[in-house]
Amino acid sequence: MNYTVNQIAEITSSNVIGDGNLVIKNIAFDSRIIYSTKNTAFIAINTHKNSGEKFIESAIDRGINVIISEHQYPQFENITWILVENSVSFLQKLAKFHFENAHLKSIGITGSNGKTILKEWLYQCLWNEFPTVKSPKSFNSQIGLPLSLLQINTSHELGIFEVGISKPNEMDKLENIFHPQIGLLTHIGTAHLANFKSEEELINEKIKLFIHSEVIIYNGDNSLVDKKVKELYSSKKLISYGFKENNHISFKNNISKDENVVVQYFDEEISFPVHQRDEATLTNALALVTVLKELGVENKKIVEKINALKAVEMRLEAIEGIKSNIIINDSFNLDLDSLKTALQFLNEYNKQKRSLVLTDIVGVNSNSKELYEEVSELVNEQNFDSVFLIGNEISKFSELFKAKTFTFINTQELIESKHLTEIENQIILLKGARKFEIEKLKDILELRKHDTVLEINLNAILHNINYHKSLLKPTTKMMAMVKANSYGLGSYEISEFLQHHHIDYLGVAFVDEGVELRKKGITVPIVVMNPEQHSYETVIEYNLEPEIYSFRVLELFYEAVQKSGYDKKYPIHIKLETGMHRLGFKDNELDHLSETLHHKNLKVQSIFSHLSSSDIPEEKEFTLHQLENFEKNSGYLIEKLGYTPIRHILNSSGITSYTSHQYDMVRIGIGMLGESPNSEIQKQLRSVVSFKTVISQISIVESGESVGYSRRFKTDHKTKIATIPVGYADGIPRLIGNQVGNVGINKTLAPIVGSICMDMMMINIDHIPNVKEGDTVTVFNSYPSLKEFASYCKTITYEVLTSISPRVKRIYIKD
Ligand SMILES: *Cc1c(COP(=O)(O)O)cnc(C)c1O
Repeated sequence: MNYTVNQIAEITSSNVIGDGNLVIKNIAFDSRIIYSTKNTAFIAINTHKNSGEKFIESAIDRGINVIISEHQYPQFENITWILVENSVSFLQKLAKFHFENAHLKSIGITGSNGKTILKEWLYQCLWNEFPTVKSPKSFNSQIGLPLSLLQINTSHELGIFEVGISKPNEMDKLENIFHPQIGLLTHIGTAHLANFKSEEELINEKIKLFIHSEVIIYNGDNSLVDKKVKELYSSKKLISYGFKENNHISFKNNISKDENVVVQYFDEEISFPVHQRDEATLTNALALVTVLKELGVENKKIVEKINALKAVEMRLEAIEGIKSNIIINDSFNLDLDSLKTALQFLNEYNKQKRSLVLTDIVGVNSNSKELYEEVSELVNEQNFDSVFLIGNEISKFSELFKAKTFTFINTQELIESKHLTEIENQIILLKGARKFEIEKLKDILELRKHDTVLEINLNAILHNINYHKSLLKPTTKMMAMVKANSYGLGSYEISEFLQHHHIDYLGVAFVDEGVELRKKGITVPIVVMNPEQHSYETVIEYNLEPEIYSFRVLELFYEAVQKSGYDKKYPIHIKLETGMHRLGFKDNELDHLSETLHHKNLKVQSIFSHLSSSDIPEEKEFTLHQLENFEKNSGYLIEKLGYTPIRHILNSSGITSYTSHQYDMVRIGIGMLGESPNSEIQKQLRSVVSFKTVISQISIVESGESVGYSRRFKTDHKTKIATIPVGYADGIPRLIGNQVGNVGINKTLAPIVGSICMDMMMINIDHIPNVKEGDTVTVFNSYPSLKEFASYCKTITYEVLTSISPRVKRIYIKD
């Protein structure tokens, strides 16, 4: 977009205070991830849950001077205000105007699953055919869609936008601002069905998006969808795709056996290899082919583009680097939008020093001077320490970059220069076009090189936290339990992410865990559940808050506070024993406790207890008894203290099963990692952890031979066996060898055969077609799931996670 403040006010009937001639090209809505302040206005979005106005100050601190808000705050000087009646309707009005005046070809994607992946795939296939704009991430809601539409500028010829709804009547509002020419309906599932009277009502709502579309491309496997689309839109061009034969576009051959899949597109056949054969991937591939055909892309190109897709990791990953660096690898494509996304991601880390590796932007026809001017402006705002430019084009413009800037013809030249290996304690962003293969830099910079990785999806954690929050009152605080290295996943990385997303408290088990977080820059309150005797001075030095569970600990800790010279009331957390019989003050100790506290310069920040069996439905009676004890004893203590600390008792399964006992705070642990004992809740959560490796070798073992140590497995026919480089030293219990446990390949289970070795194990892959050396093997994620894997090990998911050896590289991704 490109409007003056006055134009914006006129389009949206808002009022201006200040300079109406300022030009606005971007609207930022999250003050933490403003990647550029030039020509940027900050909008304080108010929803029923949250007010964006509390972030106005931090936006202004970052250098923003135009604020769009429902209220003016006169204490900020030299600010131009666009005062609006309602921030959300403002965005929608502006986006509608902007979209309707942009006249670009548009694709609107809706459905229950697959929207984001299809949007990303389409973008990857189309961005070098047409200048293309798309929704960032999964911005598809009443707020996300308008923000996405506002990214359209005059150079764009194609827009690909996701549209998501979860309640009746939401689509009307979205269709009012965005009417795509090509409508794409993905799979309709049960998500959000609960908000609708019937599946039919849900379908009717979703397909309202297509009222003004010329073409509707839809998944016709659901016969109700097929019926409804045909009933309502018989006058439009309709193309259905899917597995069933009634569809226009389907697979022609045996997709589970043949090397290539063959898509029948009306009277043509298009054949291409696909790597993953699960139903969702294959259905998405059909949708992709259909849209590309509709846009006139030739068959040969379609196949090329699909081939390029599978090699692509469409996400950013953060990896621990050598010399305490963090490496952010985003080397699959490079354009302005994805550069902005990467810079946003970078801003979520608070490392002081940063460096950037950036290549030529390839495949765009626009004026390169203008393009690189824009690139350099974005980059200059990030205060990089060093910038390494790779490629002849971008190198011509090295003068535009303010940081220490170095230029190279290709990636190899940068590697040979040894510049990168000198960097210490920085965050290094690798951002490049595919052809420069800057992922080679990642190999040089990363700390642990292994084919075996534990991938932790941070967005999934956020989703799971938000799901639990949606069950609670908006005022209820949340403590995230990051003890034991965040259940083995990495306490700093997860805490940093949670801090960024405004978690109220963090909980660790021991003092050194809290110290590590503080040293790395975590500032949110941290409770230490088990402060050990000799650690009290450290607790105070690092501003940690101890759990106090006995008079002994209380006295020793208070002694340390006095010695330290701390002159305010030190915050502590009182643990009550209510039935678990682990740690805590007992009923008959409360009088003495309150008296002791009266004489000490301590502040009881919270009173809490822990449920022993909130995950066991059969123990409901006992749990209710614990809750009753807590209500009684915490109430008694509060009365005696004469002030009201916050109270908390629910852990993850407590949140879902005993929601009404949330008090002022809850403590989430395994639930944020996507695990619930309740199968209905489990469906709402996203899997966070993926333990993966690759096949080292495949052997054909003749009948009657043995596999592995002690000859525990013998073949009774010629058998295909794969060796994978994980063993009991990585945390796979030896007891799941000999066909007790399975791993997954292409979403098929492969039994572990023979005894598990220290660093390796063998699996039977006889029944899985098309497996090659180097292919990915899933130890757990979805096939098998973490729960299934835990059941092979005869233990609980918690123990599986905390047993994974530190030598397994942790990678943090955002999808
Ligand atoms: C670990 C822990 C939790 C979190 O339990 P989950 O079952 O993982 O949610 C909550 N409270 C305390 C005191 C804990 O030690």
